[in-house]
Amino acid sequence: MKISIVLPIYNEEKNIPILYQELNVVLLKMNISYEVICVNDGSRDKSLVALKEIASRDANFKIINFKNNFGQTAALSAGIKSAQGEIIIPMDSDLQNDPADIPKLVAKLEEGFEVVSGWRKDRWQKNILTRKLPSVIANKLISIITKVKLHDYGCTMKAYKREVIQGVQLYGEMHRFIPAYASWSGGRVTEMVVNYRSRQFGQTNYGISRTFKVLLDLLVVKFLSNYMNRPIHFFGGLGFISLLLGILVGLISIGLRIAEIKYISETPLPILCALLVIVGVQLVAMGIIAEMLMRTYYESQGKEPYVIKEKINF
Ligand code: UDP
Ligand code: MG
Repeated sequence: MKISIVLPIYNEEKNIPILYQELNVVLLKMNISYEVICVNDGSRDKSLVALKEIASRDANFKIINFKNNFGQTAALSAGIKSAQGEIIIPMDSDLQNDPADIPKLVAKLEEGFEVVSGWRKDRWQKNILTRKLPSVIANKLISIITKVKLHDYGCTMKAYKREVIQGVQLYGEMHRFIPAYASWSGGRVTEMVVNYRSRQFGQTNYGISRTFKVLLDLLVVKFLSNYMNRPIHFFGGLGFISLLLGILVGLISIGLRIAEIKYISETPLPILCALLVIVGVQLVAMGIIAEMLMRTYYESQGKEPYVIKEKINF
């Protein structure tokens, strides 16, 4: 199987037949083996009926039907797990991504990349202040923190080589960080401008609050990538700094008393000292708990904290 298209679907009954037509035109013209995996994420409209109708006459069209609404990331994750293609292309199913971009993404991928990320360059022509600016800032921030420079992390339409995407576990809003994961594990990542159309049927499921969720997820992703195997270094490091500052403040307070400049109770220093010492001890203790959790995580699942690329002469 060459290509797997993965579609998360939540209340898209009107879009499904049109999307199917558009996909058909493009995929048949490419003359390759393919599958379209539709993940119905607990739609409350007639999306499932529309999907089943298509699946009954087209065997390339597959459905995963969720019991409830688990969110776009969960839907993508389930679709990706069952995908068989060498190349996996997730897309929005509301016609905002354009199937006509599929051949271009594939061609770019075959130039020697593991990820080609879509870039909806002409988005937010209006709402400059409320939508465009937060999006630009968020993408800049993600680029700086992950060290993988992309203009549009949020674009669902991206093309992946199978091997970089199959192992990743997705939580929260984290599907957008797959390019960063891929790059960290040695994959080559690039981006390409894709067509972006405004929604005609149905409505968007998200508002500005998603930007904040994404930033929190970014924090987790960054933490996990740097400290997953050694949380004590993170918490313990901060804890030591706090402890040292606390001791320093305490000594200053005593010094002032000995030099007869101020009585200990005349300054806020003793309180600051106590606070910093307590926080320091707490942080170190938290680091130890995190170490124990981390060990449970790896050892209970038989996971190793490293990935072997190959072994020779074993
Ligand atoms: N979606 C989903 N589950 C949800 C919300 C959305 O599967 O809980 C799907 C939705 O059907 C669409 C894609 O995710 O195909 C993007 O959703 P939406 O258009 O609402 O987001 P936006 O384009 O505004 O970022
Ligand atoms: Mg949309």
